[in-house]
Amino acid sequence: MKAAPKLRRITVLGATGSIGMNTLDVIARHPDRFEVYALSGHSQLGRLRDLCIQFTPRIAVTADAADAGRLRADLHAAGCATEVLSGREALIEIARHPDVDCVMAAIVGAAGLQPTLAAAESGKQVLLANKEALVMAGDLFMAEVRRARAHLLPIDSEHNAVFQSLPHGYSGDVTGSGVRRIILTASGGPFRQMSVDALFRVTPEQACAHPNWAMGRKISVDSATMMNKGLEVIEARWLFNVAPEQIEVVIHPQSVVHSLVDYVDGSVLAQLGNPDMRTPIAHALAWPDRLDAGVRSLDLCEVAQLSFERPDAQRFPCLELAYHALRAGGTAPAVLNAANEEAVSAFLERRLGFTRIADVIAATLDAIVGTPAATLDDVLDADGRARLVSRSLISRWREEVV
Ligand code: NAD
Ligand code: MG
Repeated sequence: MKAAPKLRRITVLGATGSIGMNTLDVIARHPDRFEVYALSGHSQLGRLRDLCIQFTPRIAVTADAADAGRLRADLHAAGCATEVLSGREALIEIARHPDVDCVMAAIVGAAGLQPTLAAAESGKQVLLANKEALVMAGDLFMAEVRRARAHLLPIDSEHNAVFQSLPHGYSGDVTGSGVRRIILTASGGPFRQMSVDALFRVTPEQACAHPNWAMGRKISVDSATMMNKGLEVIEARWLFNVAPEQIEVVIHPQSVVHSLVDYVDGSVLAQLGNPDMRTPIAHALAWPDRLDAGVRSLDLCEVAQLSFERPDAQRFPCLELAYHALRAGGTAPAVLNAANEEAVSAFLERRLGFTRIADVIAATLDAIVGTPAATLDDVLDADGRARLVSRSLISRWREEVV
């Protein structure tokens, strides 16, 4: 008889977000397999309080001391013994604590880099949703994963699909594994068929109304510009050790084929499923086993049609900007990421037109001379410089927004 699996202790960074909540949904289905060690949340304190009451973690981490004080009082009143800490050092602490086996890295954006890196440096099983960490510091991050023998499992549905379609135990030997190409699918987002002229006037509400996935606001805008796929191309380069020219992007509006691997003998392996993030989350949580994720099985006859098309470079300039930054190397992807974060948040606050997002990124990449990304400080310095340049571009273009 197979021995019962060991109870795994998990920290969920970004527990109050879309990935965090989906992770806790899967965990709640398997209390015999997982114990929540720590949860973090930056806003939505009410949600963090409810999660603490439900999962009774040892630690909860908020953005600042004032939020921590409020949460502490709420939890005390509810009879919940969770200890409440705040700030970046506390995020790093819950990511690397020796009692933790597994860290779900689901903070959005550059804010996730240091805690996610801390989890890798301490050899955890790292469930990587925070793609921006790998975009900013891919080389450094992967070196830490290898040095500390961390287990890195992709949560992004495309990368999780590629991981499942590569040979078991794949360790980055593309040629030896007979891999010719990786094909990432993209839904094309809500503006796939809108005229290019109409794109300037789209609103944050339209951009966040993704046809297939309910996600956080930043990644929803990234999907609408296709920068999300650009970030994923860079993520794939580091996760699977593939060259930029070995990564192809195809538009697949149904979001059923989550990505594919093309082998030298002409075989193409793919992973399919309903678009539900609980599938890759459950896969990574249980790996190498399988767990019930609460996801209904795919009805192929209901889907009926799977279609594919090439991305339109005029409509989606962000995709090529990401390939450009990847080929340039060094700190260029960190610059791309920082400019994108600034532009997306300005768009969400109605300070920038939608099509200007790509303009801000292109001009910031032009303005900043790339340097080698040898240390974390190199990356953080490039991130800071890119934010200054992009903020000044955003204020220059602000008056266009009525
Ligand atoms: P979200 O906005 O729903 O949640 C983000 C989480 O990060 C929240 O818990 C928030 O409180 C926390 N957070 C935000 N700013 C922070 C800061 N400065 N410091 C600390 N914590 C902070 O985002 P999401 O959609 O869950 O995405 C999370 C990550 O997963 C992103 O990197 C995204 O690209 C990636 N991802 C998401 C999906 C999806 O379906 N939502 C799919 C693939 C990958
Ligand atoms: Mg994805």
